[in-house]
Amino acid sequence: MREGKISTKVSKFKIAIIGAGASGLSTAYELQKFGFNVDIYEKSNQLGGLAGAVKLSKGKIDSFYHHLFKSDKYILSFLEENNLNSKIQFKRTSTGHIWNNKFFDISSILTLWNSKLLSNWGLLRLLFGGAVIKYLPSFRILNEKLIYKINDKLFGKEAALKIWNPLLNYKFGKFSNLIPYSWLRTRIQDRTIELGYLSEGFETIYDFLEKKIISANGNIYKNCFVKEIGFLKDKKQLLIKDKVYDRVVLTTPPSLNKKLLKKLSYKSEQIEYLGALCGIIEFNKRPISAYWTGIADIDKTNKSNYKEFLAVISYAELDDNWNKKGKPTWPLYLATYCSTKQFKKFSTQEWKKKMIKAALELNKLTDLEEIKEENIIDFKLSFAEYAQPILSPGKNLHPNPESANNCYFANMHNIFPNDRGQNRSFYLGKKIAKEILKDFSKI
Ligand SMILES: Cc1cc2nc3c(=O)[nH]c(=O)nc-3n(C[C@H](O)[C@H](O)[C@H](O)COP(=O)(O)OP(=O)(O)OC[C@H]3O[C@@H](n4cnc5c(N)ncnc54)[C@H](O)[C@@H]3O)c2cc1C
Repeated sequence: MREGKISTKVSKFKIAIIGAGASGLSTAYELQKFGFNVDIYEKSNQLGGLAGAVKLSKGKIDSFYHHLFKSDKYILSFLEENNLNSKIQFKRTSTGHIWNNKFFDISSILTLWNSKLLSNWGLLRLLFGGAVIKYLPSFRILNEKLIYKINDKLFGKEAALKIWNPLLNYKFGKFSNLIPYSWLRTRIQDRTIELGYLSEGFETIYDFLEKKIISANGNIYKNCFVKEIGFLKDKKQLLIKDKVYDRVVLTTPPSLNKKLLKKLSYKSEQIEYLGALCGIIEFNKRPISAYWTGIADIDKTNKSNYKEFLAVISYAELDDNWNKKGKPTWPLYLATYCSTKQFKKFSTQEWKKKMIKAALELNKLTDLEEIKEENIIDFKLSFAEYAQPILSPGKNLHPNPESANNCYFANMHNIFPNDRGQNRSFYLGKKIAKEILKDFSKI
């Protein structure tokens, strides 16, 4: 069927989307391309969800640090399709690693070797394991194995102890023993040396999509929290805030969907999520020389504050435009994953204190000039309750663990075998729009 014909046929169908993050907006965009009528409901007054931005003294940056890989083909082809590729810039960045109160430069094989983090044999084993994962095709039999059980064999004992096991523990906490090899494989296979970023944050893409969707007669209802989804008597159409829809796309996690869809026959696997906590301290002096520094300190005698965080990310080391105008500043992210309960244990002021202490300690581990509290210009704290799904073999590792009549699900847990990411949201947008089109072509 020609596209024009499809458009006239499907334009009578109304689709609602819950959530205006990367998944909701990209799905709306793809549905509109087929000619569907789209309404989006967003509980916040800002679009972009996890990829939204905050304002610092010099401009906007992502509230949670983001970058792209060159292999992120779905989001990159969207940018190309809309002449936005000039906005994205790719850069080779530096990477640090904190191991037992010492900073190691692990940006390249040479700097890693020079850093003496690993013995020569330990380095060789790590490189061998990395190459096997990167270049050999995926083995089904390995995909569902638990990483913590095979890390030693893949990378050798030393690299498992100093790099991979702490990374797993810091990132997934009590869930670290549930993470499958497939997660590790895609992290290594998809990663490219150069990282892509958007000056003023990825929100730029979502602002663009907002305008595009509205200009194609879509509606975006901001500050509009959806509490439940009902249905008409024949159960063929769904109801949101008294509006009738033919299909609903949910970008919310299963624990919320269970409440939203309690009137419909909703089925789902139990999926745990971790929240993400991210503070940004804007300094007027350079605090850390690497863009990304992973924290992997397992020394129990070390009581440093930085041990509460998974990584420290120095934004201006990635975005070359940041300091091209005005007085130079260095926004520093301190990040970790935790539950809402853990986040709520401390007030914003208490988190701020902890993060500042951690940043000053980390600065001391580098060769850079010392920074002090008076070098701080701004501070922003963000917390998102649903940021990292935990998908484990045998429990919930499934391409689409949710189902309900006339509903489609596009969220971070529909990612197997990839890690969550904006690229995946753009892939899901295309996939779900096609599925909905197919669904209506039967009518
Ligand atoms: C710390 C961190 C670092 C990351 N780094 C990267 C990276 O480097 N590169 C990358 O590509 N990706 C990265 N990601 C992942 C990326 O941010 C996500 O995969 C992507 O943004 C998910 O988009 P989403 O639309 O599926 O979900 P979300 O962004 O969570 O969007 C869901 C939306 O639904 C809204 N909503 C929720 N409930 C309701 C309701 N009841 N009614 C109405 N609206 C509702 C929310 O407000 C939100 O806007 C990172 C994520 C985190 C947390």
